Amino acid sequence: MKAASRTSVRSPRSKNTSSTSVPAQPELPGWIREPKHLLINGKWVEAASGESFATVDPASGSTLCHVAAGAKEDIDQAVAAARNAFESGPWRSMTASERGRLIWRLADLLEEHADEFATLESLDNGKPRAVARVADVPLAVDLFRYMAGWATKIHGSTFPISVPYAPGAQFFSYTQREPIGVVGQIIPWNFPLLMAAWKLGPALATGCTVVLKPAEQTPLSALRLGELIQQAGFPDGVVNIVTGFGETAGAALAGHPGIDKVAFTGSTEVGKLIVRAASHDLKKVSLELGGKSPNIVLADADLETAIPGAASAIFFNHGQCCCAGSRLYVHKKHFDQVVEGVASAARKIKVGPGLSPDTEMGPLVSEEQLNRVMGLLKSGQSEGAKPVAGGSRHGKAGYFVQPTVLVNTQPGMRVMEEEIFGPVVCAVPFTDEEEVIRSANGNIYGLAAAVWTSNLSKAHRIASALRAGTVWVNCYNIFDAALPFGGYKQSGWGREMGAEALELYTETKAVCVRL
Ligand code: NAP
Ligand code: MG
Repeated sequence: MKAASRTSVRSPRSKNTSSTSVPAQPELPGWIREPKHLLINGKWVEAASGESFATVDPASGSTLCHVAAGAKEDIDQAVAAARNAFESGPWRSMTASERGRLIWRLADLLEEHADEFATLESLDNGKPRAVARVADVPLAVDLFRYMAGWATKIHGSTFPISVPYAPGAQFFSYTQREPIGVVGQIIPWNFPLLMAAWKLGPALATGCTVVLKPAEQTPLSALRLGELIQQAGFPDGVVNIVTGFGETAGAALAGHPGIDKVAFTGSTEVGKLIVRAASHDLKKVSLELGGKSPNIVLADADLETAIPGAASAIFFNHGQCCCAGSRLYVHKKHFDQVVEGVASAARKIKVGPGLSPDTEMGPLVSEEQLNRVMGLLKSGQSEGAKPVAGGSRHGKAGYFVQPTVLVNTQPGMRVMEEEIFGPVVCAVPFTDEEEVIRSANGNIYGLAAAVWTSNLSKAHRIASALRAGTVWVNCYNIFDAALPFGGYKQSGWGREMGAEALELYTETKAVCVRL
């Protein structure tokens, strides 16, 4: 069980140990070194146990600062605060327009602090700062603005009803959409700020209250966002943030009888634990889980766009994307050229610390992820897969892995079936389109897929045949706050972003009035 194996490599837990080796960053004056607390009912408090844990810079393994290790008692307090804020007080009586304005104000504040958040994401997660500055942070700002607009547009409908057993009676019937209530939200480390935005945006737009648990590897941007949430003027208790470990804080939240819904993003393995924990009292669940997304290059594809597209599909965010294009199916006619093109792109990627301006790929997030990815690479090679680029660890310090392209992979190999969550793509030749659709769909996941072709009809036919929540055509990793995102099969339940995200956070009530 992954959760158990992780204890041996996790960051040290300790009390009040001073932080070390934090690179000087003008936009983070001292903040980063300070011990971090939990946000409960509008106050920053220590964990009830007094314990904390280190969050580290994965480029060096050095400690950035210490963060409160929240657990059951803290979750109890946070849930009580969220319940109180939901049932009474200013949030409950606020108009939809006022709610929307608060969310918009939060977006403005986030935008004002975009440089700072890009640095925080880079330090805590390892991703290139430049990428966080143009992708993670603006996408989070945009998501909040998009959801701010929805706050005033969540409404029911009226229905002409017939009621066959009440002849002559007249009724007026309508539905109304109500916030689902107190929501527990558990997020991963690969896009720490953006995942917080995907979760908080629709919950706040619909009028829910929240207890958010960030990933233990990357708690910092969520905590800083908590400060902006206060500055924006959200009432106390509307958003509570409890940092801590999955097995303690996360598990206490997922199974808490005081929450109405749990929203989770992370591994499929932990997603199943969440479902079990939530089944006790049948709380609502939405899940955003793993993937092993097929990326298909047809014989008629424009290779000038497909080759860099296939490289960025897997190497963006170091392959630590749930929708990474990790199975690259290429028509036999172009297989060698595409593989060589992607391998050559892989060899040219500048790997280094996220804060270096010329870095294109940073370290993986943790030693645990490094060991996981290296273990899968070893397993693939022992089963006959051959790296045409990469295949090894990069350097000796930090958690860097070489961008890797594997060939000679076969269905059934772990590298072909499991989510690697690292910069590793398996390239596979095909000749027949029906065969490639079968292979593409032949996996437990169904999060995303892509097809590269210059034939419009084929593009639509294949998009329709692929069992995935998102299909990109002649592009990859295009996200927008308006586009729903989520998975078929074991990639999850429900859709985040877009109007569909509002469904995750509302109940529909039917009202019938006899006139
Ligand atoms: P993970 O173990 O599933 O962790 C995700 C979150 O769940 C973290 O906040 C984690 O806390 C928490 N958690 C862990 N065990 C828990 C438990 N028993 N009860 C409640 N919460 C628990 O994921 P990971 O291994 O860190 O991240 C990599 C995986 O996440 C990948 O395999 C990828 O598939 C998946 N992922 C999916 C998406 C998506 O959008 N579909 C996005 C990102 C990642 P701690 O970190 O403190 O343990
Ligand atoms: Mg960290």
